[in-house]
Amino acid sequence: MDESRLPFALPDIGEEEIAAVTDALRSGWLSSGPLVPRFEQRFADACGGRVGAVAVNSATAGLHLALEALGVGPGMEVLVPTWTFTATAEVVVHLGAEPVLVDVDPDTLHIDFTDAARKVTDRTVAVVPVHFAGQPVSAADLRDFADTHRLAVVEDAAHSFPASSQGIPVGAGTSAATVFSFYATKTITTGEGGMVVTRDPDVARRIRTTRLHGFDRDGFARYRSDRPSWRYDVVEAGWKCNLTDPAAAMGLVQLDRAEAMRARRQEIAGRYRNAFADLPLDLPPPGPAGDVHAWHLFVVRLRSEALYDRDGFVREMSRLGVGCSVHFIPLHQHTYWRDRGRLTDDLFPVASAEFARVVSLPLFSAMTDDQVERVVTTVHKVLQ
Ligand SMILES: *Cc1c(COP(=O)(O)O)cnc(C)c1O
Repeated sequence: MDESRLPFALPDIGEEEIAAVTDALRSGWLSSGPLVPRFEQRFADACGGRVGAVAVNSATAGLHLALEALGVGPGMEVLVPTWTFTATAEVVVHLGAEPVLVDVDPDTLHIDFTDAARKVTDRTVAVVPVHFAGQPVSAADLRDFADTHRLAVVEDAAHSFPASSQGIPVGAGTSAATVFSFYATKTITTGEGGMVVTRDPDVARRIRTTRLHGFDRDGFARYRSDRPSWRYDVVEAGWKCNLTDPAAAMGLVQLDRAEAMRARRQEIAGRYRNAFADLPLDLPPPGPAGDVHAWHLFVVRLRSEALYDRDGFVREMSRLGVGCSVHFIPLHQHTYWRDRGRLTDDLFPVASAEFARVVSLPLFSAMTDDQVERVVTTVHKVLQ
């Protein structure tokens, strides 16, 4: 057996991506050029068309610009699950608004709409559900909740390309915007990168402006236009969040491979599910029949009768050379969020209890069968 360490995650980059990035470098367009709009169009098509896709340099930037485009600002509150990465909440603070943390469903670890309803006030303007681990939040439940409370929805889809709920691809639903991540460990990658998908042409137009300094047109548009290429106007105080052409080149290849890579992750998840059925582990919920799960993460939960608690399990796995991770340390347990909201574990009973027993096992499309079997054998060795 391979004695080297198996990392928790590795990107799935092949010769095609390397060739595409090399071509992009040779083209002379090192910032945003012709490949960015091509990537955007192809991504919009992958979300079923009828949406606009705006490329940015991270999902964090995408969440920030999407909420900004919807008018989120001082005096407003935005509902965010405590079970997420800090980016989902930090952008709300940067807009001068208040993230209000919500507990999660014990099965899916998605935002708990019952707890969310209790936390709606007359200042609440939006909700940011997270499609945790790649399993889509129920599109019907989300729409019901948002309609009942008249809230804008920005979906954090950092884990969930490609995925679909009730036949609707994540990104193609009724939400104001959906934001994907192309960070190195996500299901498709551009190194760093993200995409905002929206059905609202005004939101798309505003983000195209705010992602690049508030210019009325970007460098590539100026290059192609009849107006002199030095002439541009600043129409907003924008940000600097545009994606580069070499990144878009990588993204175009990854997009072509997305379904094959998803199928491989699903196959590995199926192997884990069979292999771990007899162990003292709660396995991830399979989701409703017909839904498509992106399988970004395979999160197991240690039962109380297991030989090790979570920390002991991660330590033993590491000792045997297999990297694991934990998703997520709930936001209310981080110093900043705890102190800011004077938050305690008893306000989030589900997230606090589940955090103590969750582990994410290695699951990435570039895993070989031998590496998958190594995870299986090592988990058995630790727990038996
Ligand atoms: C990775 C991640 C983000 C941030 O994505 P970036 O592209 O790194 O900015 C946001 N939300 C969740 C849930 C994530 O896992």
